[in-house]
Amino acid sequence: MKILVAVKRVVDYNVKIRVKSDQSGVDIANLKMSMNPFDEIALEEAVRIREKGLATEVIAVSCGPTQCQETLRTAMAIGADRGILVETSADVEPLGVAKILKALMDKEQPGLVILGKQAIDDDCNQTGQMLAALAQCGQATFAYKVDIGADHVNVVREIDGGLETLSLKLPAIITTDLRLNEPRYVTLPNIMKAKKKSLETITPETLGVDVTPRIKMLKVCDPPTRTAGTKVADVTALMDKLKNEAKVI
Ligand code: AMP
Repeated sequence: MKILVAVKRVVDYNVKIRVKSDQSGVDIANLKMSMNPFDEIALEEAVRIREKGLATEVIAVSCGPTQCQETLRTAMAIGADRGILVETSADVEPLGVAKILKALMDKEQPGLVILGKQAIDDDCNQTGQMLAALAQCGQATFAYKVDIGADHVNVVREIDGGLETLSLKLPAIITTDLRLNEPRYVTLPNIMKAKKKSLETITPETLGVDVTPRIKMLKVCDPPTRTAGTKVADVTALMDKLKNEAKVI
């Protein structure tokens, strides 16, 4: 069984982003880019499944500019067997990525596709769900635990106030939550080994996918700045402020 893992190149989670002065987006020039953290978890899970002998190959896929090659090399250093870059300079929306992944599912016939629950740049939380609809197969989002059987996969999901266990027929789509696993560190020998692994570059057009945006982003703005707090003398003064100024009680 092959496992397809979607890995997105995003601004590193430690970087404080700046909104452009004309509110047309976020300025990402010269910022540190990394693999989307939820995708690292997706990849780690896929590699663990292969290491247990329950999968034969882990294929990492990234859609975006040439620089996504770095993300794919990291994926291969973590343990993916090969990488596919679907190269485009367009800003690919979740529907476009889902169509690309569906075309790759048709080509590679994986038993499992694992994605992050959301990309930390657009926070869409849509791609996995759209892919499941396009591929007409079962989906388990926000995975907390994954158990592979012969022709099915059991997934424990994090839901409000508890956990839910689902059983899906393979092929299936899974999106990862934060507590599924702790991704391994990339080691230098594995970085060297990753350089020798196959990295194929194709375009959305060769897969027959139109990635023209359907959504127009109107503006991006910073959250309102917080006003400074004040110190109160005692609990009575605090209660008075909460009641009469903040009006929260
Ligand atoms: P989103 O729906 O944009 O929040 O993204 C959810 C997941 O879809 C991500 O965690 C990735 O696994 C996958 N994904 C989204 N965009 C891309 C992309 N450009 N390349 C590869 N995977 C992607």
